[in-house]
Parts: sequence; structure tokens; C-alpha cells
Amino acid sequence: MSNVYLVDYQPYQFPLAFPLTTAHGHWTHREGITINLTDENGNTSQGEIAPLPWFGTENLDQATEFCQQLNGFITPDQIDNIPDRLPCCQFAFGSAAWGFSSPNNSPLDLNYCQLLPTGEAVFDYLDCVPSLPCQTLKWKIGVQNFDIEQQLLLNLWEKLPPQTRLRLDANGGLTEIEAQQWLTLLDRQQENASKLIQIEYLEQPLTPHHLNTLFTLAQTYQTAIALDESVASFKQLQHLYDQQWPGIYVLKAAIMGDPRQLSHWLSTHPIKAIFSSVFETAIGRQQVLQLAQQWNLKHYAVGFSPISPQGLLTKGRQQG
Ligand code: MG
Repeated sequence: MSNVYLVDYQPYQFPLAFPLTTAHGHWTHREGITINLTDENGNTSQGEIAPLPWFGTENLDQATEFCQQLNGFITPDQIDNIPDRLPCCQFAFGSAAWGFSSPNNSPLDLNYCQLLPTGEAVFDYLDCVPSLPCQTLKWKIGVQNFDIEQQLLLNLWEKLPPQTRLRLDANGGLTEIEAQQWLTLLDRQQENASKLIQIEYLEQPLTPHHLNTLFTLAQTYQTAIALDESVASFKQLQHLYDQQWPGIYVLKAAIMGDPRQLSHWLSTHPIKAIFSSVFETAIGRQQVLQLAQQWNLKHYAVGFSPISPQGLLTKGRQQG
């Protein structure tokens, strides 16, 4: 006999503590919906819809419309059949349903990654923090032209402490020539620089439309390439795996559909996965980190910032 869950949902909006500048533009606010399911015994479980339309997900209006038409009820069967055009709704309802059978509050043992301010703002940040909270750092590129950003990287290299592990993320904002310039620079820095800084990878140098060129770059340079925008959906993940992508897969699990499906797939398809934030609230964050605990590439940080020093997962405090 199938359960019926009562559905409550609540839209949210909060300003990002550090507005984000990427090749996609300027992002200042996070909007989404938290959902709450109640089963026939009165047990409750939460989920989060955190859309990222520029990654091809539903937008907030479409997610709201889906919640509205439920009229306050959903069955497990309906959850299994949420259409693929609503991947964030699939994640929210799938993870909430999963929460009834396996509550996801076990302690996490993960390394985190600090997102640095974009461009020269990084230097003001480094000047004012007494010490960096993480060994793994991420810096966005592809926002200014290569000559400027190259010089910024070389300056940054001098400022970072030894043992830093650095990730660069272009969000698909480079041309093929610029991608080659960046990879040449990174290979050279890694070979010649005396300082013990490790470039972990260059993330999404080109847009997903340039898949063949991304494969060629991955085969040509030493520096690893990670794909993020290219694996925005579960279907794209499967496709890339079938094509034998040799690099790293950045998984924004909160926009990739039902987490039970993703977890099952990962159990039979070993890939180098880095789980990454879409600036979820504490609800989505905890659910994605539970997946990361099991499937994130070992010895690599997740693409989430650490919990704030206050240890509070209040809205707007978790930056990834
Ligand atoms: Mg990225």
C-alpha cells in the first residue's frame, strides 16, 4: 500500500554574503523553496528546491507551479515520476522521501573549499583575513582578459601559503585560444614554480557546446580539466561517462534529480567526482554532503565552503 505524504512548501530568498561574479554574470540573491513532507505516522522530512536556470534547470516559477498543483499531497509514486524538466523538484522530493528511510544526520568527515573573491578583490580579501580557513581554494577566471588575469594569478601565486591546492573556474568563459594560454601557463607554473602550490584543476574552460575541444585539451595538457556546466543534469552525466571523459566531474547534486538515482548510478560507475554547491540552505547542503561523504573523490575537498566559524548554518552563511 502506498503512502501519501502531506506537502508544505515555503519560498525563500536571501542575499549571498559575498555576491558572486562569474562568466555567467553577477549573482547577488539565492531564491528557492523548502519543502516539508509528513507521512501517515506524523514523521516529517525536508527537502530543498534550489533552481539554477542558467544551468538548464527549471526556474522558480515553474517549481512553484509544480508545488501548487500538488494541492498539499504527494505519493512516492508521484515522486518517482516527477518529469526530468524539473530536476530541482526531483532532488527536493527525492531527498525528502529518502530521509524517511535513511535519516541523513550522521557526522561528516570532509575537507572544504574556500571560494575567493573574483579578480583583484582577492588581494583585499587576503590582506584582511588572518589565515585562510581551507587548504583548497577556488578562484573564478574568464571575467577579464587573459593578460590581466594571468598577471593576477602570478601575483596570487606569490601570496598563497605553501601546500595550497588551487582550483580555477572559468564557467565556460574562455575562447579556445585563451583556454590553451591558461593551460600552458598552469602547466608551466606547476613544473617550474618553486613554491609548493598544487593546481588541482581548471574547471569548465569552454562552454558545453565545445565538447570535442574539451576532450582535446584534456588529452594535451598536464593540468586536469574538470567539467561542471557540461554535467548539469543526470542525462549529461551519463552521456559524458559513455564518451569516457578522462577528467573530473563536478556534480551539483541539488540540480541533478533524485539523489537516490544518482547514488545508485555512482555505485556502479566509478568517476572522479567533486560535489559542488549551488548556494543551498542548510537543508540541501546537508543532503548533498551526505552524498559527497560517500562518492566525492578521495583526498579532494568538496566544492562547499566550510561551516561558518559560528558553526551556524543560517541562511546566507554557507558559501561554496
Ligand atoms: Mg563551476
